[in-house]
Amino acid sequence: MSGCLVIVSTPIGNLSDFSKRAARTLENSDIIACEDTRMTRKLLALSGRTSTAKLVPYHDHNGATMRPKLLADIGAGKIVALVSDAGTPLISDPGYKLVAACHDNGFKVATVPGPSAPLAALTVSGLPSDKFVFAGFLPPTTRACEAAIRDIRNLSMTIIWFETPRRLLKSLTLMSDILGPRLAVVARELTKMHEEVIRAPLPDLVAQIQRRESLRGEIV
Ligand code: SAM
Repeated sequence: MSGCLVIVSTPIGNLSDFSKRAARTLENSDIIACEDTRMTRKLLALSGRTSTAKLVPYHDHNGATMRPKLLADIGAGKIVALVSDAGTPLISDPGYKLVAACHDNGFKVATVPGPSAPLAALTVSGLPSDKFVFAGFLPPTTRACEAAIRDIRNLSMTIIWFETPRRLLKSLTLMSDILGPRLAVVARELTKMHEEVIRAPLPDLVAQIQRRESLRGEIV
């Protein structure tokens, strides 16, 4: 049997979104390359699954060392599953270089698609979904953040960013200053108990977030 790499999506908060096919793939793989092996062990345990696969870490800091090993395993006929801590691997998560290296070596890459925060957010946003750009995390400094927002100013399509609760107000204020009253959405804690979608023109969104005592959790 020939080896392959399988990209497996996992839940972004709600365990019930762990698909049968994703669970079966992790059970049947020889190796699971995990962003964090503890998180993947926890996912398997909480969903009552067992796997004889060897769990190995694969992240930004060990990718260069791990890639040749994983490629050798796939070349030797092993099934390697790639998972991140939550959602779809490669989407602001490790994996792209491994996928590219598989293609370069003529190895099959398969997908078990599933949850992903940017698409989940887009679908509940009520913002145009015919054309959109996923722009990852906003950069850390104010200057770079302003430049990133200016870059998309003339795009007439939905822009999707990740942001942290701590920086949200500042980023929305910059967006409001640069983009004006463009309609925007904060999608928070999707698929979890405190799921929330706040939708308003940017200046109103800033005012609403300012009135909140605190805003926790994961945000698109
Ligand atoms: N690969 C993941 C995916 O496909 O969803 C995204 C990984 S990225 C490192 C993590 C960011 O995604 C979080 O900081 C947050 O901005 C967003 N995110 C993840 N889960 C979320 C959720 N349940 N609700 C809202 N945003 C979420």
